[in-house]
Amino acid sequence: MKLDVDVLRYLSKDDFRVLTAVEMGMRNHEIVPWELIHRIASLKHGGTYKVLKNLLKHKLIHHDSSKYDGYRLTYLGYDFLAIKALVNRGVFASVGRRIGAGKESDIFEVATEDGTILAMKLHRLGRISFRAVKSKRDYLRHRQSFNWLYLSRLAALKEFAFMKALGEHGFPVPKAVDCNRHCVVMSLVQGHPLVQVKEMPNPETVFETIVGLVVRLAEHGLIHCDFNEFNIMIDDDEKVTIIDFPQMSHELCNEILHSYLLFNAFPSCRYFERDVECIFKFFQKRFNLSFEEHPTDDDDSPVETDQAGWPSFSSISKTAGFLDKELAASGFTRKEQDDIDKFIEGGNNDAGSDRESEDAGSDGESADPVSEPESIEDEEHISAPTISLDPLQLQEKDKAEKSQS
Ligand code: ADP
Ligand code: MG
Repeated sequence: MKLDVDVLRYLSKDDFRVLTAVEMGMRNHEIVPWELIHRIASLKHGGTYKVLKNLLKHKLIHHDSSKYDGYRLTYLGYDFLAIKALVNRGVFASVGRRIGAGKESDIFEVATEDGTILAMKLHRLGRISFRAVKSKRDYLRHRQSFNWLYLSRLAALKEFAFMKALGEHGFPVPKAVDCNRHCVVMSLVQGHPLVQVKEMPNPETVFETIVGLVVRLAEHGLIHCDFNEFNIMIDDDEKVTIIDFPQMSHELCNEILHSYLLFNAFPSCRYFERDVECIFKFFQKRFNLSFEEHPTDDDDSPVETDQAGWPSFSSISKTAGFLDKELAASGFTRKEQDDIDKFIEGGNNDAGSDRESEDAGSDGESADPVSEPESIEDEEHISAPTISLDPLQLQEKDKAEKSQS
């Protein structure tokens, strides 16, 4: 999706007030009746209709008159609300080029006031695995709070909470900077996704590091659930960074413990197995590594293992659930975990296999009550249009920097 942030500059205070009113109306309306938008926005000088027309022109809202005259936010409208809020908080000052399009997200460079480049990830849950999502609709239909924007916001909150907690525990992840709505701001990781790396000097060492990380996560009762060459970044010094956590689960910890107790075998957790297998296969194929039975046989392994070489039960039980407090501190609670886990489970089954693109945001079916902000007055401060959003300027700066180095 194109994110023309230039438009942001030209949006007035009233434009943002009405856009926020649509967002608020969507808490309990799939399509927000225009009278309600008018009432929530209560513009001092009137003119709601004119503002709506302007928002429509910029594709920030979608008009629907099938049942009554109403509007809903588009993903772009939601993007603008998040970006504006983060800019007003001083998290960044401008948006640059798109640096990645994941399965269910778009990633952009953003720059802070002092010129530091960060990464901004906009979650678009349900965009690609849209069919998987559709099949879940029966389950979701009776859930009042279900909607695309809500789930994208949950995915962002979950990723932010995990990134922060993992970073605090010394895992190599991007630094979690801030989060608003469906948007996560994090440090920019140098290097490339592993999938793009054709050659490296020490594949064995990198492989060991990566498997060591999966195992260390599991020791903490955590499974990435989408651990593959797309979600591992590697720089010129072969430093590894794990990205992309919305599927990560610590609920699965129970499954691990269960299988350990029942079968005395740690790896019978299918998600863990799949994570490890992905890495095995990738290194085997791409770098011709050959393997012994499993990766943790190595005596020098930093991981506490049992006789069979798998992470020991005692180390799992010691740390299982240890992140609960940290996750809750970021506002990611049990309820949110439940909501999103149930939804994402469907996507898990075909993780990595379904890479075609479909935009759920424009199919007219998105039903999106969102639970932010608390009151339109809370968001009043976001509407001062004093920001400089200049993607071109940022790209030029980029080029200049590159030619200098
Ligand atoms: P998705 O959840 O949609 O798979 P990812 O988080 O995996 O999205 O990101 C998609 C791509 O964007 C990555 O493969 C990577 O190239 C780029 N990317 C994501 N996060 C960062 C970051 N913090 N720094 C640099 N590039 C990133
Ligand atoms: Mg990814």
